[in-house]
Amino acid sequence: MDTTRSQELFDRARELIPGGVNSPARSWTSVGGTPLFFNRAEGSRVWDEDGNELIDYVCSWGPMILGHAHPAVLKAVQSAAINGTSFGAPTAAEVRMAELVVSAVPSIEMVRFVSSGTEATMSALRLARAYTGRNKIIKLIGGYHGHDDALLVSAGSAAAGHGIADSAGVHPDYARDTLVAPYNDLATVEKLFADNPGQIAGLIVEPIAGNMGVVRPVEGFLEGLRSTTEKDGALLLFDEVISGFRVALGGAQSILGVTPDITCLGKIVGGGLPVGAYGASTEIMNTVAPLGPMYQAGTLSGNPVAMAAGITMLEELAKPGVYEELDRKGAALAKGLSEAFAEAEVPAVVNRVGSLLTVFFTGDPVTDMDSASATDRDRFAKFFHAILEEGVYPPPSQFEAWFVSMAHTDQDIADTIAAAKRALARI
Ligand SMILES: *Cc1c(COP(=O)(O)O)cnc(C)c1O
Repeated sequence: MDTTRSQELFDRARELIPGGVNSPARSWTSVGGTPLFFNRAEGSRVWDEDGNELIDYVCSWGPMILGHAHPAVLKAVQSAAINGTSFGAPTAAEVRMAELVVSAVPSIEMVRFVSSGTEATMSALRLARAYTGRNKIIKLIGGYHGHDDALLVSAGSAAAGHGIADSAGVHPDYARDTLVAPYNDLATVEKLFADNPGQIAGLIVEPIAGNMGVVRPVEGFLEGLRSTTEKDGALLLFDEVISGFRVALGGAQSILGVTPDITCLGKIVGGGLPVGAYGASTEIMNTVAPLGPMYQAGTLSGNPVAMAAGITMLEELAKPGVYEELDRKGAALAKGLSEAFAEAEVPAVVNRVGSLLTVFFTGDPVTDMDSASATDRDRFAKFFHAILEEGVYPPPSQFEAWFVSMAHTDQDIADTIAAAKRALARI
């Protein structure tokens, strides 16, 4: 595979942009090598600067659930852009978009649009604090909620207790009020509430974890979070930036039967343009300015081009059969990959929910960050490079989800499984 042009661009990029990238997940630091520079995408395919064509399972880290350059989304973007790309005034598109989100997501009666998932979670936490008048929050280890100061905490190997920031530059006071517990560990969450009664504003969780690789909530876990937060008067926040519109139109909350107080959205909701959102009951959202005392704003929030993309995306996803087809494709890929690993006698676990999946190089179940970290990451890196040579682009990290889109054909999936077999034979 010729990567001369990507190499040249990366060398230049590194002189101009930290690490050559505008988001660290793109830098391939966990698998090594030179990240490919893409210049075109269509359907299930991406093309890099050297003209290599790849079957893409990153899909912009989730948003491209309909596939790249979807004709209806492109048309909506073009029609909106011709009328002007930003007004800084309300538009009909925002009303339509809000109607779509409110009707799809069970917990949302009122919604505010922002420009990224990070802005959504950051604002949602502020809302939880403003509404409850409390300061502490709980997040779960291995849960990623964007790069807000208070959320860049996982406490690493410390099983539970007061947070220590993962990033330099986070004010220790922010991190101190972030308490952490392992994912799927209700007992530790209950202990945190018992130790901090009436002080916790909210608990934020990915209802289906997607940032330690895909990890399902064990039975009773989300129900337990719901009753524990409620008993204490704290809010339950679902970060559905990945799972929203991915596992179902109404997000994980619509299929798992647990309704949070506040929901955060991102990724798919913008149809490939920068959009995030947070929403809740009207009573909670009445706290947000200009109705209430919690300030939150954005020059480009509800941007008309981004709203046009989001509206079309949600309308396409509402068509009958979409989630059944995504699930069928995800299942076929997971089954084929599991069989390929078994044939090659490589211990591997495939965690899957619908069109989200992660291949973990381990023989043991992966249920939290500890078990995800105990997998063979060197082997993952070797597999990544080997399957890339075979024309398949999986996420360049063990701790990310593969995203299957509507544009992945049965042939793409069969080709991917065959590529995995050839890759495994070489490593
Ligand atoms: C990607 C992600 C975010 C952050 O969204 P950005 O748009 O990258 O700021 C937050 N939460 C979850 C669960 C995510 O996967």
